[in-house]
Amino acid sequence: MKELAGIAVSKGLGVGKAMLYLEDALPEIPRYSVSGEQVDGEWRRFLSATAAITEKIRQRLKETPLRNSKERRYILEAQLLMFEDVDFHENVRLGLESRLQNLESIVWDTSQEIVRKLSALPSAEFVARIADVSGMARDLLNELLSIQPVSLANLNEAVIVVARDLLPSQAIVMSKDFVKAIVTDAGSHISHTAIIARASGIPAVMGLSSGSAQIKTGDTLIVDGDNGLVVINPDKKTLVLYQKMIKESRAKAKMASQLNGRSAETKDGRRFMLNVNLETPSGLKDALSRGAEGVGLYRSEFAFFAEDRVSDEESQYLTYSEMLKAAKNLPVTIRTLDAGGDKIIPSLFQDNDEKNPLLGWRSIRFSLSMPEIFKIQLRAILRASVHGNVRIMFPLISGLTELEQALGFLEEAKAECAAKKQPYSGTIPVGIMVEVPSAALVANKLIKKSDFFSIGTNDLIQYTLGVDRGNERVSYLAQPTHPAILRLIKMTIDTAHRHGKPVAMCGEMAGDTRLVPLLVGLGLDEFSMNAATINDVKRIIREFSFAECQKLARKALRCANAEEVAALLENPV
Ligand code: PEP
Ligand code: MG
Repeated sequence: MKELAGIAVSKGLGVGKAMLYLEDALPEIPRYSVSGEQVDGEWRRFLSATAAITEKIRQRLKETPLRNSKERRYILEAQLLMFEDVDFHENVRLGLESRLQNLESIVWDTSQEIVRKLSALPSAEFVARIADVSGMARDLLNELLSIQPVSLANLNEAVIVVARDLLPSQAIVMSKDFVKAIVTDAGSHISHTAIIARASGIPAVMGLSSGSAQIKTGDTLIVDGDNGLVVINPDKKTLVLYQKMIKESRAKAKMASQLNGRSAETKDGRRFMLNVNLETPSGLKDALSRGAEGVGLYRSEFAFFAEDRVSDEESQYLTYSEMLKAAKNLPVTIRTLDAGGDKIIPSLFQDNDEKNPLLGWRSIRFSLSMPEIFKIQLRAILRASVHGNVRIMFPLISGLTELEQALGFLEEAKAECAAKKQPYSGTIPVGIMVEVPSAALVANKLIKKSDFFSIGTNDLIQYTLGVDRGNERVSYLAQPTHPAILRLIKMTIDTAHRHGKPVAMCGEMAGDTRLVPLLVGLGLDEFSMNAATINDVKRIIREFSFAECQKLARKALRCANAEEVAALLENPV
């Protein structure tokens, strides 16, 4: 038995068998020369690999019902066309004959030649095709090399996923039914993968440095997401102890008093709005049943990860419309694409070899430089707006010019809808995320063109304190109680309130029960968090008076460092 300590990022206990997930998406490509006589053999291998794949796709098409799966069928049919594409076949044949190289290297190089040509074209549709081409080449390589790729989406037994790092796009496809816990070497409490683990209710311990090297597939693990511990191959006594603890915590969760139907109101009657953060629309029903009063943040980029492409306008329109209808007129805040940084959609970021992705081409910067992709999303939101109560939110705004540019594209999208006689609501609130310190510092300018602010504390902490939110070595510095963070929050709230506009918070701080009285005292109007936390935050709001919280906030703002504030929060009144 061995015990590893890491960062507790998602509560709960998980016991099960480890599955090491260290595969790279692309298999290693063998490269060697072949003789002229071997070319025909290589060509036959190509034909039989494509035949095997197209047969599998046809089978999947047969199993995909015509109704309700239009988008899925469309993708499968498009894949079929690609594997049977005459030009692609001809280019592979020519490549084999002229270069006398093995098939695997020719397949990959031919696909990358197409990718290069597509990358040079400005249209969003071509950009989306890049992923399809690379995906096709990857499938062919897997087939040729007899590699069975492991997908976290298609697990068929319960496991504990162990990885050096997990991308948000990999985490989002995991199901709680099969993934009993997550263990990673990288990550911190505010990394996107941690956020997803919490939203999915999967216990997780991150920041184990080199933990994955000490765990083998098949090892029995206990993952203690409350205390940040991982036990490898526990002895019988420890195993029995934890199994008992799991039973007890399940029973407690069941008994937890539901505050549904009660408002999030302080003892002296100040009312707050509690919303949910969603990565996929499927979580909405559960959130509403737990008392969410709306969606404070819909991370729209996650829908793009699933297919590694920009969804077309129609399918985005459908997704947003369905979510708005299901929310039954409660507000739904759709954040426009927040891709880049650690949320890479490979097809869109080909050849983007940035030194500092988190300071680079991400989020609103990406959208502003890809107007076609941006406007597809804006038109889809506008058209869906007639089905409910939507709010549009722009991420990572760093100054007024960026906001004005984004609003300019929104006006263009409106004009395009109007030209096509597509109706949209005339009263959509448009707000921004305050998640770069510069936005907080020029909040008085930004608020004049925003209907609301929503503070994204995950990035605000990252950029204010200079701490990469995914880096376990410096995660101890990502302190939400740092006075600099509190001052920026206060400045943002006060500025918006002077203009009579509301301020929400959708970063992880909003769901941190320890911080709730402080945020109440700072004057926040709306809290947005994962569904499981809503009742806990509500309970705490109901325990205090607004006056008490204001006093606490005043004291906290006078503290010299994060530790002093943390100590103050131990005894808030
Ligand atoms: C944030 O930065 O606080 C936020 C809510 O956005 P994300 O976590 O998706 O970057
Ligand atoms: Mg952010």
